[in-house]
Amino acid sequence: MDKNRIFISGIEPPAENLEPAWWFAFHDDKLLVHPKASSLSIPCLVDFEESGLTTVGQHYLGQIADRHCYAVELAEDIAPPPGMDLLGLRQVYGVVDEDLFVLAGRALQIVEWDRTNQYCSRCGSRMRTSPTERAKECPQCGLLAFPRLSPAIIVLVEREAEILLARSYHFPPGRYSVIAGFVEPGETLEEAVVREIREEVGLAIKDIRYFGSQPWPFPHSLMIGFTSSYAGGEISLDDAEIEDAGWYRANSLPDIPDKISISRKLIDWFLAKHGVLKGGDRGKPR
Ligand SMILES: [Zn+2]
Repeated sequence: MDKNRIFISGIEPPAENLEPAWWFAFHDDKLLVHPKASSLSIPCLVDFEESGLTTVGQHYLGQIADRHCYAVELAEDIAPPPGMDLLGLRQVYGVVDEDLFVLAGRALQIVEWDRTNQYCSRCGSRMRTSPTERAKECPQCGLLAFPRLSPAIIVLVEREAEILLARSYHFPPGRYSVIAGFVEPGETLEEAVVREIREEVGLAIKDIRYFGSQPWPFPHSLMIGFTSSYAGGEISLDDAEIEDAGWYRANSLPDIPDKISISRKLIDWFLAKHGVLKGGDRGKPR
């Protein structure tokens, strides 16, 4: 699939679907997929009723390459039809085309936003969906509820030919990555980068540069990536968050995250700079 297809967001569906559309259907947090030999596909139907599954909510997402996209919340008591399966997004990650994975993440966040904003969190009235923007509005007190997004920074730190990699307690065994953390209210992204590195590993950094960003639907993060250079200090771990951290050369890395994550793209950028990656296998800013 063409990785450069542009998604055009929208909230108003076409009056009628005449062509097949992508349907991102969720049962709890699990996505309805067609398993294939070595990959997965997303249901592509003119009308979701063709699936025979009962739904409790439907949201128009927009279009990709002239194909409409919908997020669907499935009824609680359904079972996937023959030839289809319900899988968590983490299981789908890396197996479905990247642009469809990103859309699946978007769809899950829209379904989750709808599910958790049925009533006003200020006055308890039933919320209604805004006809003009992706928002729920309270008819009593006017509160607006938008889909939730949690910005998080992720930062690569270089020290000459070495990269700082750390291991969080919740990583798979042996896995190391660059450091990430949520942005606090009132903080700039650059302040969050400096604070996270100081708090988690006790180091000072400089030359902070924007690298790229990536929506990360686990459950509603927006990862904002930076590169930086070591400016001083000795590694001192925040024991509550970090199990281990150290400096690694490009030719002797531990186990690192899978492709398509921005953490891996940052690490691949470092590897390419030090001549370890070959063409075609190279991470690049998005
Ligand atoms: Zn209200």
